Amino acid sequence: MGVAGVTDVLTLAHDPMRMSTADVLLDHFHKLAHEEVRRGAENGVSVHVGLGVHPRSINAQVDETLRALPEYLSHPDVVAVGEIGLERCTDVEERVFRAQLEIEYYPKVIHTPRRGKRDALERIVAIVDDVGVKDVVIDHIDPSTVDIALEAGTYVGITVQPGKASVQDAVDLIKEYPEAKFVVNSDISAQRSDCLSVARVLHALSVEGYADRGQKACVQNGLDLFLR
Ligand SMILES: [Zn+2]
Repeated sequence: MGVAGVTDVLTLAHDPMRMSTADVLLDHFHKLAHEEVRRGAENGVSVHVGLGVHPRSINAQVDETLRALPEYLSHPDVVAVGEIGLERCTDVEERVFRAQLEIEYYPKVIHTPRRGKRDALERIVAIVDDVGVKDVVIDHIDPSTVDIALEAGTYVGITVQPGKASVQDAVDLIKEYPEAKFVVNSDISAQRSDCLSVARVLHALSVEGYADRGQKACVQNGLDLFLR
C-alpha cells in the first residue's frame, strides 16, 4: 500500500475468529490499536483505528464489552467507532447497534450485510434517523442499494472487494452521483481482498478524466471525516 501511494489507513474492528468472551474481543481491540499501528508505521503507512462491536462479534458478554469500549476509544490512534451495524437484524443486534450509535463519539462506520442488504439497510437508516446522527459512513453500498443510502444523507461507503463492488461499479457510481459523499474502501478482510483497490479506483477515474472526483471519494472525504 505504501508503494501505491497510500499514506493513511483506517482499520476497523472485526475478526471472524470466535469471539467467545468479552476478553477475546477486547484483546482484538488491543491488537488493532497497538500491533496494527506499529506494523503500518514500519512500512511508512499511518494506521488509524475504529473500534466497536460488529454484529457478527456479539456474544453473551456483549454488555461487558460495551462498558469497556469508551476507554478503548480514548486511545490516541483511535479515530472512529466501527464497524457497527446489522447482519441478521435480530433484536440483540439492533440493541447493540443502537447502544453504539448513542455513544458520544464520531464518526462511526456502519456495516451492511452481504445477504438481505436492502432490508437491513432500510432498518439501519430508520435507526440512524431515529437516533439522529449524520456523521456516519453507511458502508458496503453497491449499485443495488445506493438509492437508499443516498437518501439517508450520510457518507456512503463503497467497498471494492471481490464479492462486493468492483472497480468499475465504484467508477460508475462516482461518475453518476457528483454530489454524493462517497468513501471508497478496500475492507481488507479474511475474505478475498485487494489492498490496492482504492488506488485502482482513483487511477481509473483519473484516466477517464475524473481525477477531482476520484481525489474526493478515494482520499479527501476520508481525511475530512476521520482525520480532521
Ligand atoms: Zn462490514
